[in-house]
Amino acid sequence: MSENPSPSSSKDEVGEGSSRTATSSKQQSSPAESEGAAADEEKDSSVMEKLQQFMTRAFHLDDKEKEEVPQVLEEVTFEGVCRYMRSGKCKNIITMVGAGISTSAGIPDFRSPGTGLYDNLHQYNLPHPQAIFMIDFFKGNPKPFFVLAKELYPGSFKPTICHYFIKLLNEKGLLLRHYTQNIDTLERVSALPLDKLVEAHGTFQTSHCLECGAEYSLPWMKEKIFADEIPTCTEEDCVGVIKPDIVFFGESLPDRFSECVAKDMKQCDLLIIMGTSLVVQPFASLANRVSRSIPRLYINLEKTTPEDDMMAMLMGGGGGFRFDAEDNVRDVYQQATCDTGCSAMADLLGWGDELRELVEKEHARIDKEMEAKKDAASSHKNKRRSPSPAGKPRKNSTSPTRDGSKSPSSKSPEQKL
Ligand SMILES: [Zn+2]
Repeated sequence: MSENPSPSSSKDEVGEGSSRTATSSKQQSSPAESEGAAADEEKDSSVMEKLQQFMTRAFHLDDKEKEEVPQVLEEVTFEGVCRYMRSGKCKNIITMVGAGISTSAGIPDFRSPGTGLYDNLHQYNLPHPQAIFMIDFFKGNPKPFFVLAKELYPGSFKPTICHYFIKLLNEKGLLLRHYTQNIDTLERVSALPLDKLVEAHGTFQTSHCLECGAEYSLPWMKEKIFADEIPTCTEEDCVGVIKPDIVFFGESLPDRFSECVAKDMKQCDLLIIMGTSLVVQPFASLANRVSRSIPRLYINLEKTTPEDDMMAMLMGGGGGFRFDAEDNVRDVYQQATCDTGCSAMADLLGWGDELRELVEKEHARIDKEMEAKKDAASSHKNKRRSPSPAGKPRKNSTSPTRDGSKSPSSKSPEQKL
């Protein structure tokens, strides 16, 4: 969804020689801001290096190198990956996911035509659908975004089997990190520990004023969104629009993304990619940042085509998958929905019942919480009809933070990173 399409993230490819400063998200999205000619030269040479690597791979000039890649999987199949997971040799799994893991929760994939989601937006005459996530468009006309936000509002959906499989991976001590492009916060709802989570395209969890930077909470934002209001700053003399902290086109990815990538990719011993077509950069390039011997399992309804792959490579990373190559020692494609794929995996791992029980238990818990919230919200509203003119969050002159604590829904498991 909201993505940073900048190809200039090539500097932190594969980690070597890239400092955290060099890979800062600012530089990724704003190459024009780089400091002086030296930086430009470095960038140019890095682009050249990337092109060379790409040409080498595209024309199979690296056969010699490939021979040296040890085969980790006994069998390069879905079952082979599961056996490897059970072997005790696989302890640092990275999962990277996209919208496909949330569709079964009922969250519409608004990229696909015909879902009906954009129908609500026709009246706003968007120049093109993505405009809704373009920061410049938003600054001029935030209304369409908030209409969409109401439809997609986090808290109205339950995590999927796939989300709970990832949680289970963590409980089994196998999850190094979970990278998500999704902004639906379902990972948080599934109670995946926040230190395991990288929300590459940001989150609805917090929001900020575009003018003064004041922070607002999810409950505060929710109230505005559901009242069909454009949320505006309540600081004195500020009329800024408040934008959820999701990454729009033209904005930097959170620093946490590059920080974690730099640490994690070297340690990864299995990459599981689910529900993403791997076309959004720089996120897609993660798939190519693990060591060349590391097994990669790709669960998706469609396989990325070689064309996509080539484009992704040129964009600064990307799949580079060799699913059908004779010399493939590590890439496994499983054509399935994310839920089906995860259920099958759980069964092969002997966790099938555990996963089903977890889903059942957690869904029951969330249903109960949602009910309680609804009740609390209605009694809260009733109370507010009486004396004090609530409506706005409390002003706090020492801190720009709005804690939204007046809202009973702030009791939910919403936490800050
Ligand atoms: Zn403000």
